[in-house]
Amino acid sequence: MYNITDKSDYPDEYYDVIIVGAGPAGIGVGVLLQKLCINFIILERDSVGASFKQWPEETRFISPSFTGNFFKMPDLNAITPDTSPAFSLLTEHPTGEDYAVYLEDVSEHHDLPLRTEVDVQKVEKNDYCFVITSDKGEFKSNFVIWAAGEYQYPEKNAFEGSDLCTHYSEIDSFSEINGLEHIVIGAYESGFDAVYNLIREKKIVTLLDDANYLDLINSDSSYSLSPFTRDRVEYITDLYDYYTATKVESVELEDDSYIVKTANGHVFSSAQKPINCTGFASSLTLVKELFEFEDKYPLLTEFDESTRISNLFLVGPQVKHRTALFCFIYKYRQRFAIVAERIAKKTGIPDDMIENVLKDYKDNNFYLQDLSCCDDKCVC
Ligand SMILES: Cc1cc2nc3c(=O)[nH]c(=O)nc-3n(C[C@H](O)[C@H](O)[C@H](O)COP(=O)(O)OP(=O)(O)OC[C@H]3O[C@@H](n4cnc5c(N)ncnc54)[C@H](O)[C@@H]3O)c2cc1C
Repeated sequence: MYNITDKSDYPDEYYDVIIVGAGPAGIGVGVLLQKLCINFIILERDSVGASFKQWPEETRFISPSFTGNFFKMPDLNAITPDTSPAFSLLTEHPTGEDYAVYLEDVSEHHDLPLRTEVDVQKVEKNDYCFVITSDKGEFKSNFVIWAAGEYQYPEKNAFEGSDLCTHYSEIDSFSEINGLEHIVIGAYESGFDAVYNLIREKKIVTLLDDANYLDLINSDSSYSLSPFTRDRVEYITDLYDYYTATKVESVELEDDSYIVKTANGHVFSSAQKPINCTGFASSLTLVKELFEFEDKYPLLTEFDESTRISNLFLVGPQVKHRTALFCFIYKYRQRFAIVAERIAKKTGIPDDMIENVLKDYKDNNFYLQDLSCCDDKCVC
């Protein structure tokens, strides 16, 4: 693998494309650029799959892996049509560590050009090119693909005093959490994951849900708890206190006790730091001036290009078109080929070569061009 980590400083370097981030989004789109013989580099602040390596040890994928590839139904967690985490990892619900191994394997197999331990701090565009400022010097390119994800940018402003809490992303293992009684704030996937794993550690848990996520059923998996989570929660229903419609307004520290106040007038206290599971602010906070936003989602063209800056693309879970949020791997992987095709055409790669490379992606539901599906609802 072409993976340089021992140089302390890189001179200015010029590429056709720079991808920022070596998670499933960056590696997934990188495989296509490599197949299209495009000159590119992936800049990664840590190592391949770093966010997954930071997951709590006990956390598992909620979307199941299954080797359906031969029947043109690739594993839901695969980032290329011809690989399957179920096949290589031999598990249905990989841990973060497992999945990072899968990402490393894909990256090595395709010999992707990677620079690890390069922390991108700023992206600017002048009249000629993008200038990327990092802790290891400047890089320049004609195109940028932003793939820096969400996990390493936790939401820490959801309520007053949230800095007093432990954010879900700061937990290495639930087995290392001290104390008996715990308050979990936020009841979506990470909140229920925390509750489930704390109960396995024999803790007494109170879950504060600003809505009622257990009762909320939606045909789009992005807006409803996964079956995997519901199956796990079914077995612990009587083992935790669950408050719905209970939005946390503040957390204060008084005499070694954390006091949690809610909008509906409840006051809870705990000797342990509450666990904040209110989600992620996203890496787009680093480059927010390069995109236009509607709510917290960036406005994108039909090619997932910024509507504000041309030749700047977004891949990964922050992609949203109309009501459809592409927040799972099986969703956003269908846009890798759209982005790669657009860049290939703009850089003058011959059409027959592009078609040849994309055929496999098109044949295997890895190419979602028609966005009219983004308004569909399931009927059963
Ligand atoms: C608890 C939990 C469970 C989940 N379960 C599932 C699931 O079952 N199925 C599913 O499809 N999705 C799941 N997700 C979502 C999934 O983790 C994301 O879809 C995925 O991580 C996004 O991939 P990404 O490549 O965009 O981001 P990341 O995996 O976060 O990768 C981004 C990469 O960019 C690097 N980076 C960040 N900032 C910079 C910078 N400034 N400079 C250089 N490099 C940078 C990071 O080190 C990282 O390696 C889950 C998420 C969580 C939190």
